[in-house]
Amino acid sequence: MECPKCDALMEVVRFEEIEVDRCVRCGGLWFDRLEDEDLNRLTGSEAIDSGPAWMASMHDAQEKVFCPVDGALMVRMVDAAQQIWVESCPVCHGRFFDAGEFTDLKDRTLSEVLRRHPRD
Ligand SMILES: [Zn+2]
Ligand SMILES: [Zn+2]
Repeated sequence: MECPKCDALMEVVRFEEIEVDRCVRCGGLWFDRLEDEDLNRLTGSEAIDSGPAWMASMHDAQEKVFCPVDGALMVRMVDAAQQIWVESCPVCHGRFFDAGEFTDLKDRTLSEVLRRHPRD
């Protein structure tokens, strides 16, 4: 699988029973449907989010992101404080987090925090 933001390869990283894909270049994380919620509940799981956080602010400027699994245009989700931007696939419900974003969301319930953000 290739990173939906920078087209670099993604490697599989595992935390307990959950496998996620992490970009070798920008450190972005790809979660299949609800894997992020499962992982969010596990103590210490932010360890997988080891990419450089400064990459995230750079990549947030990017306009359109397409799902690496099915090619659908992903929907941008934003947290209540508008600090964290997560791309969500409307087809397979996978989610892409920039480096550092999963850690920022840790200890909060993603479904509560994230809401749909209209794309201009
Ligand atoms: Zn990447
Ligand atoms: Zn998808």
